Amino acid sequence: MNKKPLIKPAELIILGFLNTRMTLSKDDRKNYLSLKKGYEGEVLFNSLTDKLECECLTVNGVLLEFNNTKFQIDSLIILQQTIYMNEVKNFEGDYYYEKQLLYSANGSERKDPLLQLKRSSSLLRQLLQNLGLYMPIEARVVYVNPEFTLYQASRNEPIIFPTQVNRYLKNINTTPSKLNGKHEKLANKFISLDIIEPPYPRLPPYGYDKLRKGITCELCSSFSIFVGVNNCVCGDCGHVESVESAVVRTVREIKLLFPDWKITTSEVFEWCKVIECRKRISRILGKNFKIIGVRNWAYYE
Ligand SMILES: [Zn+2]
Repeated sequence: MNKKPLIKPAELIILGFLNTRMTLSKDDRKNYLSLKKGYEGEVLFNSLTDKLECECLTVNGVLLEFNNTKFQIDSLIILQQTIYMNEVKNFEGDYYYEKQLLYSANGSERKDPLLQLKRSSSLLRQLLQNLGLYMPIEARVVYVNPEFTLYQASRNEPIIFPTQVNRYLKNINTTPSKLNGKHEKLANKFISLDIIEPPYPRLPPYGYDKLRKGITCELCSSFSIFVGVNNCVCGDCGHVESVESAVVRTVREIKLLFPDWKITTSEVFEWCKVIECRKRISRILGKNFKIIGVRNWAYYE
């Protein structure tokens, strides 16, 4: 049973908006693409763990803390006797180990997920001991991308390669397991300890004037949106979305980009650009958000 589904991190969502609406620096764009790829790997792995039929509890994407040290866990699978802790990686291409260091094909050294795994599994063990909820932990780095190859890795390292993922999960699935209140308590504990950090300090600087305004396509992020009587149609991919849903989505985007803003009809009207009638915006806002204040001072939450 999935106790905590994966949630797309706010940092990644906002970076996606920024990538559409401004030119990110080379480093920021690289960071965005790497976060996006990592998240896609987690989505893929979670879609597989969701299919487990044994008695188990899964907890996905939690940020925990022990002794003032934060550590991220991509996937936890709680069985009767064991907690499987998975560090999911979506690396693509050729990598190799040399003198216990990890390199990508072009010879540049990379952060070794095994070190990350050692650190976080040790912190998790200490945290559990501290809570009096000790259970044995099996920690693995799980590489999910079928285009990934790793040369010179030792057979004894706790690594699951793409060709082994199905077997790994099949093994878990056929492990005898009966859960009780203790396991439930453990899963709930992880969820309650999950730290939610505001994404803003980690984002590149941006301001209203720097961002390209307009409704974008919810599928392909294109700005070529044509507004009809009821629907918006994307000129690039042909995707159709109701005007109401597009405006609501755009307001949520503005709220994430500028959390301190008090959103008014005029601002949304100016931002959306393609919707010609201010009243229409006002109607949609009134129906979907809570209005605070009156007339010229009214804003929406
Ligand atoms: Zn589109």
